[in-house]
Amino acid sequence: MKIEQCLRSRRVVTPEGVRAACVHLAKGRIVAVESWDAVPDGCPVEDVGDLVLMPGIVDTHVHVNDPGRSDWEGFETATRAAAAGGVTTLMDMPLNSIPPTTSVEGLLAKRKAAEGRIRVDVALCGGLVPGNANELARIFDAGAFAFKCFLAESGVDEFGYVKEAYLEVGMRHLAEIGAPLLVHAELPGPLEEAAPPELSPEEARRYAHYLASRPKRAEEEAVDMVFRLAERFKTRAHIVHLSAATALPILRRARDASLPVSAETCPHYLSFAAEEVPDGATSYKCAPPIRERENREVLWDALREGLLDQVVTDHSPAPADLKCVGSGDFMRAWGGIASLQLGLPAVWSGARARGRSLEDIARWMCEGPARLVGIFGRKGAIQAGADADFVVWDPEATWTIEAPRLEHRHKITPYEGRSLHGVVVATYLRGEKIYQRDREDPFLGTPRGSLLGRGNV
Ligand SMILES: [Zn+2]
Repeated sequence: MKIEQCLRSRRVVTPEGVRAACVHLAKGRIVAVESWDAVPDGCPVEDVGDLVLMPGIVDTHVHVNDPGRSDWEGFETATRAAAAGGVTTLMDMPLNSIPPTTSVEGLLAKRKAAEGRIRVDVALCGGLVPGNANELARIFDAGAFAFKCFLAESGVDEFGYVKEAYLEVGMRHLAEIGAPLLVHAELPGPLEEAAPPELSPEEARRYAHYLASRPKRAEEEAVDMVFRLAERFKTRAHIVHLSAATALPILRRARDASLPVSAETCPHYLSFAAEEVPDGATSYKCAPPIRERENREVLWDALREGLLDQVVTDHSPAPADLKCVGSGDFMRAWGGIASLQLGLPAVWSGARARGRSLEDIARWMCEGPARLVGIFGRKGAIQAGADADFVVWDPEATWTIEAPRLEHRHKITPYEGRSLHGVVVATYLRGEKIYQRDREDPFLGTPRGSLLGRGNV
């Protein structure tokens, strides 16, 4: 194949490690990863020097909320934030949009809302809710990459949660069609037991009350139940946004027994600690909650060990009034953290402080999520045959997170004012530069992201 362009760096993150290399591209794909000076005669080459050339980030946990709640986020703003954050593929969650992605019609409404408006590639995720198990195969055939369910209140009326008996029905169906199930793992029983009595407005501003209302036991018992059913039905099961480190031994036992299970954690659980959340700072509210410092360090250990194998943002913004920015009421505020653009610097800042490497970042943020949804090979690695999706970034540079820099529709984020390591300089999607930080308008061209279908990856 005729090489159309080359991209080279002294630090290319490949599956075999970081090295100086020249990446040969044609028709939007990587043709070969060659030595640094192997530029074909007459071929245009972009040399990014010592900047890191890494696979585009794959973020499989993003709430775009479009259609229906696009005043919360939306495909245009979310994919601008993605491009600016080095994310070249995102998977949209099935809830918060209206309709939710719990039927073929819901999936088609999503496709329609996304068409022509996305700057990065988007995969869709279906939902398992009470009563729709018979629909799952059709939703999967229509292009969903996975399914998500809740085991407790989701926060929106259109997306109910499943109890164990119906989870069994759903997991049996999903095992038959070979689709992964993503589970929000908190059980209602322990949440109800921990629900606080009526709090005064002053008390409701205290993070400790909110933290106590979402005990670790709710996560532990949910993870245990999901893995038990995964063993029984051989369903590929994945725990989203694991926060309680006390659930890790359950994951370890399941992995040791070779069950088809995995778990992700999120940048906020790795960046913040309950002890440091200021009173009334509802930008930190999410479920399960940000826990204690000691808990955070155990999550980092689990990443190093490979027990947790992916970090995704769970980007879930909401307007300021829903976040109760005025009252600072933790109990009433919408739970969800906006961080799609900030996943890389947040995780890298914590990783470098703990001696982790660029290879670790690519494993957790590119390869792991791509494997979960079955697109690894096409996405998530710099290797021959993959899409030419890249993030070019400077791991030594720092920047201070300020609202005007953020592309999310709502700029409320707990990272505001923090100084983080890791600056995204440019982002490429299928060989074309879609973002360049130092330009007056950093976004290049019209939105050219694709809606991924399982047939075309
Ligand atoms: Zn979520």
